[in-house]
Amino acid sequence: MLRRDFLIDLTKNAALCATVPSMWRLKWRPSFADDPFQLGVGSGDPTPTGGVIWTRLAPRPLDPDAGMTGLRTVVNWEVAEDEKFSKVAKQGRATAAPELGYSVHIDLDGLSPERWYFYRFHSGEAVSPVGRLRTTPAAATQTPLRFAFVSCQHWEDGHYTAYQHMSRESLDLVAHLGDYIYEYGSTTNPNAVRRHATSEIRDLAAYRTRYAQYKSDPALQAAHALCPWVVIWDDHEVDNNYANLSGENDMESEEQMRTRRAAAYQAWWENQPVRVPRAKSWADLTITRTIDWGGLARFHMLDGRQYRSNQPCGDGNQIVPCGDWADPKHTMLGEAQEKWLTNGLAKSTTQWQVIANQVMVAPYDTEPGEKIRLPMDHWSGYPAARDRMLTAIQQHAANKTVVITGDIHSNWVNELHSGFDRPDRPTVAAEFVGTSITSGGDGQDQSPRTTAALAENPHVKWQNSRRGYVVCAVDTKAWNAEYRTIPFVRMPDAPLAEPKKFRVEHGRPGITPA
Ligand code: FE
Ligand code: CA
Repeated sequence: MLRRDFLIDLTKNAALCATVPSMWRLKWRPSFADDPFQLGVGSGDPTPTGGVIWTRLAPRPLDPDAGMTGLRTVVNWEVAEDEKFSKVAKQGRATAAPELGYSVHIDLDGLSPERWYFYRFHSGEAVSPVGRLRTTPAAATQTPLRFAFVSCQHWEDGHYTAYQHMSRESLDLVAHLGDYIYEYGSTTNPNAVRRHATSEIRDLAAYRTRYAQYKSDPALQAAHALCPWVVIWDDHEVDNNYANLSGENDMESEEQMRTRRAAAYQAWWENQPVRVPRAKSWADLTITRTIDWGGLARFHMLDGRQYRSNQPCGDGNQIVPCGDWADPKHTMLGEAQEKWLTNGLAKSTTQWQVIANQVMVAPYDTEPGEKIRLPMDHWSGYPAARDRMLTAIQQHAANKTVVITGDIHSNWVNELHSGFDRPDRPTVAAEFVGTSITSGGDGQDQSPRTTAALAENPHVKWQNSRRGYVVCAVDTKAWNAEYRTIPFVRMPDAPLAEPKKFRVEHGRPGITPA
C-alpha cells in the first residue's frame, strides 16, 4: 500500500485518527461537495524572480471555517509560462491549515524578470481559476510601468463595476490602499444594495467570514487574477478611525484593541497575496515594505494606522484644528517608520519614488476665508508630522515623488508644498488621491460648494466624487494619471466616463492637465 493511501484510510477513520500525530492528519486527496476555490486566486508583492501566489479553501464561504472540516488539506500548485500550462516553470505542494484559515501563500523564486506567468491550484479533484503574475524588471531596467490604484470597497454600498472595467485594462500591477473590507454590522437600511452577513466583526472567525463574503465577488476575483497586487491596510480592516491602540471614539480598552488587532491583522494576512516580515504577535504584524519596479520606481508601502498618535481631541471626525493639534510630537507613521521612509527616500536610486499612503496629505480649507480643514484623521490632523515628511521629500526626492492615497471616497489632484503654512515654499511632490470602488454609494461630480472652495485651495488642481479607480502610466520622463469614473454603483453595469488626465514631468514641480 502506498503511504499516501494508507494515510487517506487513516483520515477516514475518526477513532483511529485521534491516535495519529496531528502532523499526519492530512487530507491528501480531499473530496469537496462544493468548489473549494470560490474565493478565487491572487498574486502579489512581485520581484524580478518571483512573487506570492495565494488562494484560500472555502467550499461554503459564509459557514464556520468556510465549510472546511478541521483537517489540514493538501493543495498542489503550478506556475506556467502559458495559459494552457503546457510549459510549467514551477510546481509544488503545500498544506492549507485550519490555524491559518486554510489559506495558501507560495513565495515563488527562480522565475525570469519581466515576464507574465500563469498559476493555478489543485486540491482533490478541484482546480482553481487561473491567475496571472508578472515578475518585475531586473534592478537597473527602466521599463515603463502601467498600474492602477484603488481603495474603499464597502460591500453594502454598491456593485464592484469599477473592478469589471479595471479587469479589461492592460496593467502590470494593482495597488490597494486600504478599506478592503468594512467591519460594520449588517445595515438596517432597507435600500442597501447588499448586506454584510454578520454583525460588527471583532474576532478572528468573524473577520475571516467578512473577507470570505467580499472575496466571493466575481469582479473582485477577476481583478485579482489579472496581475499582481500590492496591498496595504487602512482603518476599516480593523475599526473605523482607530489609531494604534485607540479604537473608534476610545470606547475599547487597549487590551481589547490588541486582541482585536491580532484577529484583524491575521485575517488580513490570510486573505491577501502579501510577503511581510513574520511578527511575534499578529497584533504587531508589520506591512511597511518596499516594492521595486526595476530601476524606474520604488513603492514605499506605508502603515498610517498602527503606529500613529491618537487623533487630536481623540476624534477622527473632528474637522477644526482641535486640542493639541499642532504638537510636534504627534506622529502619523511612528518614529521608526518615519526614519525608514526618510532613509528610503535618501538611498533609493530609482527614477521615481512612490509613497503608497492611506489618508490625504494635502490640507483643504472647506469654507472660503476660514481655516476649517479636513477631518483630524487625515495628515491635516498631524501637521508637524506632515511637515517632516514633506521636508524629507524636498531634501531627498523633490519632484520625483508621487504620493498615492485612498480613504476619502473622492478623487483629488494635489500639488504638495514643502510646508503648507508657508505658501512661498516650493512644490515638491504630486499627490493623486483615488476615489472609492463603492464606499459612499453613487457619489456626484464636483459639487458647487467644492468648486467655490477650490479657489481657496490653489494646490488642489481637480476634485470629483464619483466611484472608480486611477490608472498610472509611468516612464523615465513623465507620470500620467488617468481618473476612471462611473456614474453609479447602486445599479450594475455602469459605463466608464471619459477619463480625466493629469501629468507630472520628472524633475519639474507641478501637475498639468494632459
Ligand atoms: Fe473608506
Ligand atoms: Ca479609511
